[in-house]
Amino acid sequence: MPDSIVTATSKDGTISVAAGITTNLVREAQRRHSLSPTASAALGRLMTGAALLGTSLKGRERLSVQVAGDGPLGSLVADVSLKDATLIGARGYAARPEVDLPLNDSGKFDVGGAVGRGRLQVTVSYEVGQPYVGIVELESGELGDDLAAYLVKSQQIPSVVALGVLADRSGIRAAGGVIVQALPGADERTLERLEAAAALMLPVTEQIDGGATAADLAAAATAGLDISPRGDYGVRFACRCSREKVEIALLGLGREELERIAGEEPETEAICEFCKHRYALTPDEVLGLVRRLGAE
Ligand code: ZN
Repeated sequence: MPDSIVTATSKDGTISVAAGITTNLVREAQRRHSLSPTASAALGRLMTGAALLGTSLKGRERLSVQVAGDGPLGSLVADVSLKDATLIGARGYAARPEVDLPLNDSGKFDVGGAVGRGRLQVTVSYEVGQPYVGIVELESGELGDDLAAYLVKSQQIPSVVALGVLADRSGIRAAGGVIVQALPGADERTLERLEAAAALMLPVTEQIDGGATAADLAAAATAGLDISPRGDYGVRFACRCSREKVEIALLGLGREELERIAGEEPETEAICEFCKHRYALTPDEVLGLVRRLGAE
């Protein structure tokens, strides 16, 4: 089943929900970065949360979520943008993808232990003007709770966030999540109903593993509230790196350093940290960059 995210709002417009299945996205991240099971769960949750928040982007806007914790996993980054009006491109990486911890007392991936304490930062870059930056202290390091804390503290929107990655020895079985947000004007009884629904809801990955669609996840998280569909998105792993960007970075080294590299290195390589794509330049190509510097 292909990944997808749906958005919906309640009839009076005070409750919004984004729900989605990101199994293929997390599998692709796992494959590219050789993520351990614990790192797959951590980065998979973060990329899923970022993809769900990505449904609020327009045009060429970008959203990135960075987690800097003091746990063994180090930092995590997930970054999303729209590939077109109905396709969300997501990428991400973990600083230490090999770190793996035993399951926690509840038999789940110990994402909180792997992430530790620290900060979660959300940056939204607009087409014009200054980017928006919101920072919160990590509450549990489990990432779903932390993203909810960010939405509550930074955006002042009461929110329920559920993110999950289900994996077994054969790999990633299911991944997905739900974000329910109460906008200004939402009444107290509706909020109570949503909180009760969140407490009763099966874990999203269990629902997906049982055949639930993104729309089913949205319905389960809103507990029978009358919601109308708003958006329907595809999701895929997509990077924004390019050979041109690598060349621009190399030009920054300056003429002398590039000449040294061209003279000494049989091949100059750059590997994108987000997608692991490898760019290689021959000494002649490096000298071509030196000529470009001369022309400027
Ligand atoms: Zn890349």
